[in-house]
Order: sequence, then structure tokens, then C-alpha cells
Amino acid sequence: VEAVLGVERAKASLLGGNGRVIARGCAALGFTKHGPLKRNAPACDGKGVCCFGCPTDAKRSTNVSYIPLALRAGAELFPGAKVTRILVERGRACGVVARTTAGHALTVRARAVVVSCGAILTPLLLGAQRLGTRSGWLGQNLSIHPAAGALGEFDEVIQCWNGIPQGYSLEEHADEGILYEGSMIPLEMTMTMVQMIGPELVRLAESFDHVSGFGFVVEDTSRGSVGQLLGQPVIKYWLGDGDVARIKRGIDVVAQIYFAAGAKVVHTPIHGFDVLRSLDDLERLRRATIRAWDLDLTAYHPLGTARMGRDPASSVVNQNNELHDTPGLYVVDGASVPGSLGVNPQVTIMALATRAAEKIAAALTE
Ligand SMILES: Cc1cc2nc3c(=O)[nH]c(=O)nc-3n(C[C@H](O)[C@H](O)[C@H](O)COP(=O)(O)OP(=O)(O)OC[C@H]3O[C@@H](n4cnc5c(N)ncnc54)[C@H](O)[C@@H]3O)c2cc1C
Ligand code: SF4
Repeated sequence: VEAVLGVERAKASLLGGNGRVIARGCAALGFTKHGPLKRNAPACDGKGVCCFGCPTDAKRSTNVSYIPLALRAGAELFPGAKVTRILVERGRACGVVARTTAGHALTVRARAVVVSCGAILTPLLLGAQRLGTRSGWLGQNLSIHPAAGALGEFDEVIQCWNGIPQGYSLEEHADEGILYEGSMIPLEMTMTMVQMIGPELVRLAESFDHVSGFGFVVEDTSRGSVGQLLGQPVIKYWLGDGDVARIKRGIDVVAQIYFAAGAKVVHTPIHGFDVLRSLDDLERLRRATIRAWDLDLTAYHPLGTARMGRDPASSVVNQNNELHDTPGLYVVDGASVPGSLGVNPQVTIMALATRAAEKIAAALTE
């Protein structure tokens, strides 16, 4: 998978001011496991707008990696077609019905059906037909890798938009379930995510060339679920005390890194501690009791809602990604990943998909 995606470490010359201050802070604190992040963008020239789609296709997204490979191997693609129903005959999956962007009904018959709608929509598609529901685990076991971070304001010019937005990582606390990844986002997105309003927000925007961002994901032990109301997904997730403590610790470490690198102010996503101006402020945060509702979090990695397992009583798909209760129907996406990974999941999902493809091909040639 890494070869197909062209995975390699980000070039140091493209880390920009954001990478510079994070590296300086990590070094000052004596951390040893930090450096350029592995990415799938070998031809990246650091344009810094990954959030909006790489303008030069330097990032090896599926549109320039796996989809062309599939087309060359004979796959037929129906972009924008939405599957509305899975065809099942005599208990075995045998195709799908979809609606094209032009509004036409499309029926595809197949010897194997692979559902890859992601951890939010896969359980809804299956659940609507009561497929994969026998164990009661469909739509349950949702993990999300809660994510948080902080902004540091510096006297020096950072110009975070020059360089790779997500280029630097710190793995010092991976055994605690915290993975730090440089994740500076453009001004217009940052402004929608900070807790400030009014003149303070305008001041931050106007001094944005002096601002750095660094964040982390947590290997969550909390779990949630995905259900449906009036045709819309309903996502529930209960952040437990252990994950709250991990998030608090992660924000503490990012603040330490910024102060060690020379930041004047650190903005955190913790209610009541939105602005830290010194290590004394950080010490006050450390002593405070923080609850889930004090945190302003995001999450990008839903997993586990059609989890894989040997036991049909406690899992939805078997070790070949095939539904325990519906032969010929496979779930190959983040939904089938059994638990929280603690690292960004794309490569794992793709590796499991490669393995599943081999298993399905073998089953079809039996
Ligand atoms: C902002 C953001 C940043 C991220 N950054 C990283 C990162 O740096 N590294 C990393 O490893 N991971 C990252 N991730 C996570 C990664 O993108 C996901 O974990 C991964 O894409 C999940 O793969 P999937 O196959 O489960 O689902 P998806 O990639 O979500 O694919 C599901 C597809 O199914 C389609 N679909 C849904 N319902 C239907 C239907 N009924 N009919 C037809 N099609 C349907 C959807 O349109 C979608 O294209 C990021 C995620 C986000 C949101
Ligand atoms: S920083 Fe992102 S958008 Fe820019 S060239 Fe590299 S991969 Fe593409």
C-alpha cells in the first residue's frame, strides 16, 4: 500500500515555519521521537492547501492511485451513483440497485458485493435491510480518535500557509495513546474553529502570520454508535474520563512545546483555559478538573461500526470481511476495523482492503 501511495517522510525543506517552531519546542523539552511525518505526496511542493484538495495532484489520493489501477484492471466506475439497496436472493448477496446522478435507476448483478460506504454510512445501508444485524453489533462500537490541539502566537513570522500543513509529528507518548501531528489549517478554516469572537478574533486573524498550530489524536477507549432518524445518520459518542485525561495531557504537552519554542500566548480548546500566557497558567490548567463538556474537539477517523471478528455473536463480518449472516456480502472500509488504532487509519484500511480483495478473489475462483 505504501508503495502504491508513494509514502515517504515529508521533505525538511517543505516543513515551513510551523514545522520549525514545533521542532524547536520538542528539542528544547528533550523529546527524541519527533520529525517529519510520513505522507503520500512524493511530488509535494508545499503549496499548503491540502485541506481544499491538492491542486497539483502531488498527493497520491485514490483518484490518482487506486482508481486508475482498478480501471486498468477492467473495473467500471459509476461516479456519483448512490446505492440504495443490496440485492439478496436465497440469502446470498447478488448485486445492488443504485441511483445515478442523472436520476436513473442502475442495477448491477454480481457474485460478490462489497460495501465501502465508511463507518457512518455502511451500517445505515446494511441496517435498512436488516443485513448484518444478527449479533446486535451493527452500528455499535464506534471509535473516532478524538482530536484536539492548540495555537501558539509568536513574535517571529511563521507564515504557516507556506509549507506542508500536516508535516511534523511527535511519537513520544504513543504508548499513552496520544499521537501528535502538525496540522496547521488555512486562515479561513482556523477562524471557524477557534473559540474567539469579536475584536479578539479579528486581532488573531490580522496577526495570523505569527500563529502556529499543532494537534493530536487520541487512541480512544470511549465508544459510540450510529443510528438513523428520518433517513439521516444519528451519531452518538460518550467521551469517557480516560479519554478526557488523555486529551488534557495532549493539550498540556502541545502548550509546553509552544512555550519552550518561545510562544507568547497559547490558545487551547478547553473552556475556561482558552488563553494561556505563561507556564503558571499551564500549571493552573494542570490542577483543574476538566470534564468532557469543557473540551472543544473534532474527529476525523470513524471506525468499528461493522466490526470484524471470528465470533458471529460479537461481530458483524468474519476474518475475510464477509458478513456472518449474509454470504457474498462484504464490508471493506473503516467500519470493519475492530477497534481504535491510535494512528491515522487510511493505510490500515487500504491494507485490509488489499487483503480482503485477495480473499474475495480466492473465494470466487474456488
Ligand atoms: C479532514 C480529514 C482528514 C483526514 N486525514 C487523514 C490522514 O491524514 N491520514 C489518514 O490515514 N486518514 C485521514 N483521514 C481519515 C481517512 O480519510 C478515513 O479514515 C478513510 O477515508 C476512511 O475510509 P473508508 O473507506 O472507511 O470511507 P470513506 O473514505 O469515507 O469512503 C466512503 C465512500 O462511500 C461513498 N458512499 C457512501 N454511501 C454510499 C452509497 N449509498 N452509495 C455509493 N457510495 C456511497 C462516500 O461518498 C465515500 O466516497 C482524514 C479524514 C478526514 C475527514
Ligand atoms: S502541501 Fe498539500 S496541497 Fe500542497 S502540494 Fe503538498 S500535498 Fe499538495
